[in-house]
Amino acid sequence: MPSIAPDRSPLSAETQRALAVALTRWFGQGARDLPWRKTRDPYAIWVSEIMLQQTRVETVERYWKPFLDRFPTVEVLAAADRDEVLEQWSGLGYYRRARLLHEGARYVAGECGGALPEAARGLRAIPGVGRYTAGAIASIAFDQPEALVDGNVARVHARLAGTREPSRQDAKAEHHWEFAAGVLGAGSPRILAQALMELGATVCTPRSPSCEVCPVHDHCRARAAGLESEIPAPKQRKRSPEHHFYALALRRGEKLLLERRPETGLLAGMWCLPLFERRAESGSGDASALLDLAQAGIGVPMRLSEDPDGVVKHVFTHRVWHLIPWQARASRAVRTVKREDGRELAWVEKGGVVRGGVPTLTRKLLRAIGERSE
Ligand code: SF4
Repeated sequence: MPSIAPDRSPLSAETQRALAVALTRWFGQGARDLPWRKTRDPYAIWVSEIMLQQTRVETVERYWKPFLDRFPTVEVLAAADRDEVLEQWSGLGYYRRARLLHEGARYVAGECGGALPEAARGLRAIPGVGRYTAGAIASIAFDQPEALVDGNVARVHARLAGTREPSRQDAKAEHHWEFAAGVLGAGSPRILAQALMELGATVCTPRSPSCEVCPVHDHCRARAAGLESEIPAPKQRKRSPEHHFYALALRRGEKLLLERRPETGLLAGMWCLPLFERRAESGSGDASALLDLAQAGIGVPMRLSEDPDGVVKHVFTHRVWHLIPWQARASRAVRTVKREDGRELAWVEKGGVVRGGVPTLTRKLLRAIGERSE
């Protein structure tokens, strides 16, 4: 077993200064050219930070500018209605972020005169802005030495410090925040905050870090001990709960019925095919079970197609849905439909749009029933 300095000896102030110098130089020479790095507008930086949560940079690059084109200022976003915001967010996932960003914009417009506070403490009063996002906005937009620690920064620090205790490798561990504050305080917080995150995202990656090109390898205890692949310790992944649904594709003439998801829970407020929970034991699905559920749930007589359109699997962060899309027809005479649980329903023309967000899951289901392929 290679030797390594004890977990609990922090990196010295001198090391933090040396890291700040090396990171500043490296970031200036080789940082990725990302569109949100060209602005100092705190609102635009806030939007980018929210979009980047749990989402790949390449995906956010497709959404960030169009979102700002539609909602160019915090006041415009605050004045928009929620459906417009969800519509613009459609496909980006984690829709709760969009709802909180919208709520946050209303708070900033109403309580802060439209200007984001400069200090992390003030920023944290905004709905949806946690410790990390507050640190990111304060440091990147306002050049304040406010720490920010995400999984990338925690991993970089755990390796630099040679931290082998799994409980101290987590982004919530306080010593990472002290480290980040120390590094940011030793130079330009705006540059160093981005440099630390960039290092974790592009060089000090979870698997196979590129230590040979790392600007701070001379200061890295994990590297010195040959432990860079063992830190951080692999997480014990819990099995995600699985849920099973029928997705009813009910047509009346050329129109298709969509329902708005409830205001809480996954895909809250977004449009989807009407879903009915089913027991997993019924194999690939049971037409009569769906017919009973659908007719009781919507109160419309319908005729089901003979077979379902396969199974659509959708993976959320902590759960997995298996959906059986099943096509059905209602009589043209049917006008009013009502979900027994009060969810909003809408008949949509082929290729038509509904006002509000349409998540990726709905697009997958529509593709499965041959309704829309984009
Ligand atoms: Fe990460 Fe390797 Fe750099 Fe250490 S030397 S910080 S393990 S990339």
